Amino acid sequence: AKMETGGDSIRVFSPEQRDMLDERLRIGAHLRDAVQRGELELHYQPVIEAGKREIVGMEALVRWQSPELGLVMPERFISLAEDFGMITEIGKWVLNHACMQARAWLDQGVADFTLSVNVSGLQMRGQQLIEDVNRALNRSRLPPRLLELEFTEDVIMTNVEHVTSVMRELRKIGVKLAMDDFGIGQSSLGHLQRLPVNRLKIDRSFVAAVPDDVSAARISRAVIGLAHEFGFTVVAEGVEKPVQLAFLERNGCEFVQGNFFSKPVKAEAMLAMLRRPELAPREEMGDDQGGT
Ligand code: C2E
Ligand code: MG
Ligand code: MG
Ligand code: MG
Repeated sequence: AKMETGGDSIRVFSPEQRDMLDERLRIGAHLRDAVQRGELELHYQPVIEAGKREIVGMEALVRWQSPELGLVMPERFISLAEDFGMITEIGKWVLNHACMQARAWLDQGVADFTLSVNVSGLQMRGQQLIEDVNRALNRSRLPPRLLELEFTEDVIMTNVEHVTSVMRELRKIGVKLAMDDFGIGQSSLGHLQRLPVNRLKIDRSFVAAVPDDVSAARISRAVIGLAHEFGFTVVAEGVEKPVQLAFLERNGCEFVQGNFFSKPVKAEAMLAMLRRPELAPREEMGDDQGGT
């Protein structure tokens, strides 16, 4: 959503567009100070090894506790932060905070896990991400192999050469890479083959529709097969029902994540889950109400 008009062109906003723009400007104005004012927080959703049903990691998901707007979910402010030039600062905060939290869990005796952090395509510009990752790892003294960065398919649509070289650099540092929301974007198989990725995450829109929806089932099976063909493992996100879990396990999906096991929770609740060997029913675990 660009606001400027070029040359002679005149842009007329419909009332709905006007409202949306007002809302974005209003949120954007508050967001500008959110990092310094300490209003961001991270919630964590466990990632489970299928079959074993053991927690093997967690995904960090950012939330914004705004005094003016209440709890704001990332879908409402991440793209805005990208457009308003605030995503680098937010991304840096997320990396630092997540790595420090993971360090604390290690110090609290949690043995081994993979911490997944979402990365915006804009963070891939230049050498910024590599510097930010190095800094977060150094500050937290987190072993690099415990950190996984998640990026979406559209990242490679912009500049495959550059993105591939940044990814190679990140792998040299020792961090892992995952492609998020796989299946809904438009990256080509040729690109996929060249990317130094460890895991693919099947988009939850497919997971939500299996096993009954024939085409979602086909796509999910195809993504799992494709990933294995390229030497990647697979994470299915958005698992909510036993039938979905059974379908994914039957088709060789290695990892699962979703509200069936636990919604994203605060760090303390995540630690409690990490300390519990078997998975408790999710009623005891969730503290994330979904919010705005
Ligand atoms: P994502 O990376 O694909 O994260 C998974 C999203 O699916 C999360 O939404 C999670 O709460 C939700 N989810 C997980 N299991 C279930 C389920 O069983 N049912 C349903 N209905 N939803 C489930 P969330 O936390 O609202 O985040 C949305 C998106 O915002 C993320 O999608 C990611 O693209 C972005 N995001 C979140 N945190 C960050 C961040 O720190 N940096 C950046 N750049 N993006 C972030
Ligand atoms: Mg993700
Ligand atoms: Mg995803
Ligand atoms: Mg998603």
